[in-house]
Amino acid sequence: MANQVVLITGGGRGIGAAIARGVAHDGRVPVVVYQSRHRDAEALVSEIRRDGGHAVAICADVGREDDILRCFEAADREGQLVGLVNNAGMTGGQSTVMNVSADQLNAVFNLNTVGAFLCAREAVRRMARSRGGAGGSIVNVSSASARSGSPNFWVHYAASKAALDTMTIGLAKEVAADGVRVNAVRPGVIDTEIHAANPPELMERMKQVIPMRRMGHPDEVAAAVIWLLSGAASYVTGSIIDAGGGY
Ligand code: NAP
Repeated sequence: MANQVVLITGGGRGIGAAIARGVAHDGRVPVVVYQSRHRDAEALVSEIRRDGGHAVAICADVGREDDILRCFEAADREGQLVGLVNNAGMTGGQSTVMNVSADQLNAVFNLNTVGAFLCAREAVRRMARSRGGAGGSIVNVSSASARSGSPNFWVHYAASKAALDTMTIGLAKEVAADGVRVNAVRPGVIDTEIHAANPPELMERMKQVIPMRRMGHPDEVAAAVIWLLSGAASYVTGSIIDAGGGY
């Protein structure tokens, strides 16, 4: 039987790496797409192989269509695509809407929204039963900011993730009869390097508005994603799961 392959954008570290480990643990092959941190991605792939699994890493910019096509061609070489996790994302830096630039908006929407749409398109083309696929599952990694709006900090980012939530709902209905499920997970504040540029005072204030009063661990988001990818979620589509400690 062909390998079951799951393509994970932004899979080299942070939440994406936790998802890749979970996919490998389930006996599937994670195709880990990263942007530039070669060492992190290769270390992850080596770790998965050492543990008896198989994984590959691909350096690509998910903000570019030609790179996206290259990633899916590489995934095709590994076996049958059964899953996509749209996880690569960027905040674009803090700004009020009053001060946001066109460059910031274009970069954030191009990666978080356009890139995710194009990846979803490529995944559906391969997984849809009407096109000879085996069905499958798409999970979009959104953000709690899509609900809160993230005023004064990241409205641009929040809006790009809200677009992803709407895509989740609409695409789920488009492809449900074709054996493809589409869901999203909305992380709250998770302990990864995405917050590296945030001052400690801001991180402390963010923690205080989380009912659990702590940041989440990448594994706590990955668990929801892995469930949505699995057969255990076979009747779940068009759903958005919050993983934010009550936020
Ligand atoms: P992270 O630690 O910053 O990791 C980002 C990953 O995405 C890295 O593997 C990075 O590659 C990759 N990446 C970035 N830009 C890319 C591009 N243009 N093309 C391909 N890969 C790219 O981020 P994270 O915190 O794990 O976040 C993962 C997702 O969760 C994002 O969509 C984020 O918006 C969402 N999220 C995170 C939080 C949070 O608090 N952490 C909260 C809500 C939502 P390199 O390793 O090569 O740099």
